[in-house]
Amino acid sequence: MPGIPSAFLLLLLLSRLVAPVTFRHHRYDDLVRTLYKVHNQCPDITRLYHIGRSVKGRYLYVLEFSDHPGIHELLEPEVKYVGNMHGNEVLGRELLLQLSEFLCEEFRNRNQRILRLIQGTRIHILPSMNPDGYEVAAVQGPNASGYLVGRNNANGVDLNRNFPDLNTYFYYNEKYGGPNHHLPLPDNWKSQVEPETRAVIQWIRSLNFVLSANLHGGAVVANYPYDKSLLRSPHRTSNSPTPDDQLFQTLAKVYSYAHGWMHQGWNCGDYFPDGITNGASWYSLSKGMQDFNYLHTNCFEITLELSCNKFPRQEELQREWLGNREALIQFLEQVHRGIKGMVLDENSNNLTGAVISVSGINHDVTSGEHGDYFRLLLPGTYIVTAKAPGYDPKTVTVTVGPAEPTQVNFQLSRSTAYPAQKAAGRGQGSRPKQSRITRKKDPATKRHRGPA
Ligand SMILES: [Zn+2]
Repeated sequence: MPGIPSAFLLLLLLSRLVAPVTFRHHRYDDLVRTLYKVHNQCPDITRLYHIGRSVKGRYLYVLEFSDHPGIHELLEPEVKYVGNMHGNEVLGRELLLQLSEFLCEEFRNRNQRILRLIQGTRIHILPSMNPDGYEVAAVQGPNASGYLVGRNNANGVDLNRNFPDLNTYFYYNEKYGGPNHHLPLPDNWKSQVEPETRAVIQWIRSLNFVLSANLHGGAVVANYPYDKSLLRSPHRTSNSPTPDDQLFQTLAKVYSYAHGWMHQGWNCGDYFPDGITNGASWYSLSKGMQDFNYLHTNCFEITLELSCNKFPRQEELQREWLGNREALIQFLEQVHRGIKGMVLDENSNNLTGAVISVSGINHDVTSGEHGDYFRLLLPGTYIVTAKAPGYDPKTVTVTVGPAEPTQVNFQLSRSTAYPAQKAAGRGQGSRPKQSRITRKKDPATKRHRGPA
């Protein structure tokens, strides 16, 4: 009966073809299908949108998780993951797809930890910032002979050397006086950067992100700012800490210690104590994304190097996911530390762009479009001041515990020494805007239908 075994074999083959192969590399079309699949499985807590297109026209898709997708809810922080900025560093891309499926499934399974996370946080996942580079690298696959094939975008540009150089500006300010936060962009910045970089900059300016990680490969270490050396020679390595150095070290250690082996320090022939490093003390780089986040926005970003092999073999993906899963979740949970609150005027209108300063830490954050602010801090007691032009500043003493953030609201009164007309005429983008407390649809990001 030769027909029966062959029919059986055919059935077996078919079942293998249709069975979900969870741990595989996803080319662009497969990535888009997977994102839509997760969105369709969890439509109430996800939104799929894109932030722009690559040089070759591929959409840069973001999957958002929230209990109210598409809406900034007051006092709920925005957090992001960015993968595959270097097209040939592919593990982050696969881990972020795994994470998306995991968040969706565990939410449906009523996993209390994941429910709490999604109900209290707005999570944005960009699995691939460089889909064109990925396709070039994927043709070679894990056996790539060229170490750098697919690293750059389709114009041959390294996207992690393509952000406006705010470090030089800030080092000038360090010397001659001036801030190290919310540094302005050059007027012609859009023409100076690649389409992928432009899309990401517009995205991070449109949402008040608080925390972020940027996923790479080629080493196993959690890297924190600054990436660019504070020494005059740009290629000299030197520990180049930010005013938030302790906080950044803690954030990096949260990842490395929750990771299966990163914290052990010895990986890929390198040794990093605790599995973390200051960027510039490893090697100095200019125009990187993590320094840009810190110097231009309210967002604190670290860079995660996740695998010795930039393009791991498919068989390694499951082990990598198990090694990173807890770390990816714990890092998201870190957005709930420090202080947060509203900045209002005496009539309870929101004040946007009010400056929140912490005594002893020379790096300010500002209130977002909806008047809420978020300031990540380690446990301790702090003197915190809120300021807005035309208003009297207010200072309070706050104690931050190890768990939930402390809520500190500020109500500022019009300064009598500062006439209303003068305040209104200030301009320069520094004047706080007023608006009623509303829940608004985010205008910068539209729901996108269909993988065009
Ligand atoms: Zn990289």
